[in-house]
Amino acid sequence: MQNMIKEAYRYASYSLGEGAPADYIPELAKADTKRLAISITDLAGRTHSVGDSQVRFTMQSISKVVLLATALRFAGFGGVFARVGVEPTGDPFNSIIRLETDSSNRPSNPMINAGAIAVTTCIPGETPGERFEHVLEYARALLDNPELDYDKEVYRSESETGDRNRALAYMMRASKVIDGAVPEHLEVYFKACSLSVNCEEISFLGAVLANNGISPRGGKMLIEPFHVKVIRSLMSTCGLYDYSGEFALRVGIPAKSGVGGGIMGAVPSRMGIGTYCPALDPKGNSLCGLRAMEYLSQALNLSLF
Ligand code: GLN
Repeated sequence: MQNMIKEAYRYASYSLGEGAPADYIPELAKADTKRLAISITDLAGRTHSVGDSQVRFTMQSISKVVLLATALRFAGFGGVFARVGVEPTGDPFNSIIRLETDSSNRPSNPMINAGAIAVTTCIPGETPGERFEHVLEYARALLDNPELDYDKEVYRSESETGDRNRALAYMMRASKVIDGAVPEHLEVYFKACSLSVNCEEISFLGAVLANNGISPRGGKMLIEPFHVKVIRSLMSTCGLYDYSGEFALRVGIPAKSGVGGGIMGAVPSRMGIGTYCPALDPKGNSLCGLRAMEYLSQALNLSLF
């Protein structure tokens, strides 16, 4: 396994120097684009890594998986999917257009920003702090790091510049898809996006999803199997933004990317995969991460299709 990851690393590293970090969240523009890591966690809970697997970065859109898992836990399938659909859009992750053109006005799926914000509104609590605590506590279990926390600088940076997400939320409130105080929903959403993780931890999350929700370390059921099925299917159809179709064809692994540079993959009954490199392609996916996923999918015959 270690040799296979080394080969994937070598293949992916040919793309080092291409792409650029996200800069619409100013703090993310500071990332070192030479960092590259690949981790695999198997279903016995062993993690194998090559490269900068201890470097911390923010989850960004990978947190949409944690938000969805948390919301499903509290509000159930019916509660969550009353506010969000399950169809891929083919649009960029921060697109607003379908909130107006779709007759239901609901966001299309939980893996785009509008959908994740709608999902966030299903997480209960008296204050945004209490609501984020639910997310944080669950994230600590799902990523197997009891110390996990959010990055205050990235949170502040996104909070200061996140007007597009505010626009999405107010649009949804105007059409009564969501209710409650928009700034409070966004506090929870931005903090979740700022969860600070490393490549090994996201591969562990992938392994939990690959293992039908059961922790590969300790055997505890962390996500109920039906919710795992829902999450994995949405990752397959919507996890890589408007690259999801091509990713299904080239890689064929349920996965979720984030503009922090991470990609998390869950190969059912096989393994969890994490990749990290903050240089992104124009759609917001980590370029070296995509290369690594392609290599591993072919070398280990991981495509579901
Ligand atoms: N925090 C980012 C945003 O809301 C997450 C987007 C992403 O990773 N694609 O814009």
